[in-house]
Amino acid sequence: MDLVGIYIREAFEGEGCPVCRTLQRFEEEEIGTILYEHVNDPAVREQFKASLGLCPYHAWRLFEVASSNPLYGGLGVAIIYEHMLRAYLESFDGGIVEGKCHLCFLVEEKERLTVTAIAERMDELLPVYRDSKAVLCKRHYELLLGELEKRNPAFVEQLKEIQREKLENLRKLLEGFIENSDYRSERGPSVEESRAIRRSIEALKGLPLGINITNFGAEAKGRRKGIRFGWKV
Ligand SMILES: [Zn+2]
Ligand SMILES: [Zn+2]
Repeated sequence: MDLVGIYIREAFEGEGCPVCRTLQRFEEEEIGTILYEHVNDPAVREQFKASLGLCPYHAWRLFEVASSNPLYGGLGVAIIYEHMLRAYLESFDGGIVEGKCHLCFLVEEKERLTVTAIAERMDELLPVYRDSKAVLCKRHYELLLGELEKRNPAFVEQLKEIQREKLENLRKLLEGFIENSDYRSERGPSVEESRAIRRSIEALKGLPLGINITNFGAEAKGRRKGIRFGWKV
């Protein structure tokens, strides 16, 4: 398997949604690169300015990543947002247009590439997926299914079957958690049953990423019809 394939395979061997996990890592790396290398890069500054300092989700992620790592500290964020406030004040009376956040754009592009790469390697990834604790979230399961229908239709039914089994397994674990939470239960909920709570939310809603929060609604509707901002699924 090639390098991209190895990277994706690792995500499939883990727990949770392999696509969300890949995007979460990517997003954090991108934010790290901005803070570490590009705070004073004029091109990156212009990208920030176009959205007046990213979308609310990514602005707060930037702040969190900077605050949680002493390597970055607050200086980079201060420099960026001093510039953003200046830009805002310059056109304070005239109003300012907030364009699309470029981190949203980058993550969406990465999502598209990741789903395509998975669909192309489904023969190798499907057995890994079947045997692991990974569960594609609803959004990424649907995107992958759409991609498979175009590129690799032979795997559509197998993926559906595995996905249904995984979700049913999660449901049973939650049922076990509920039953064993009863005071008459001898053992109490197991670690696996307790972990199923978090895993179930991830399976239905994905990780708390911009793509799962910001784009919910109109885009999801478009996706069901097979139209998604120029990307046909
Ligand atoms: Zn996902
Ligand atoms: Zn964003």
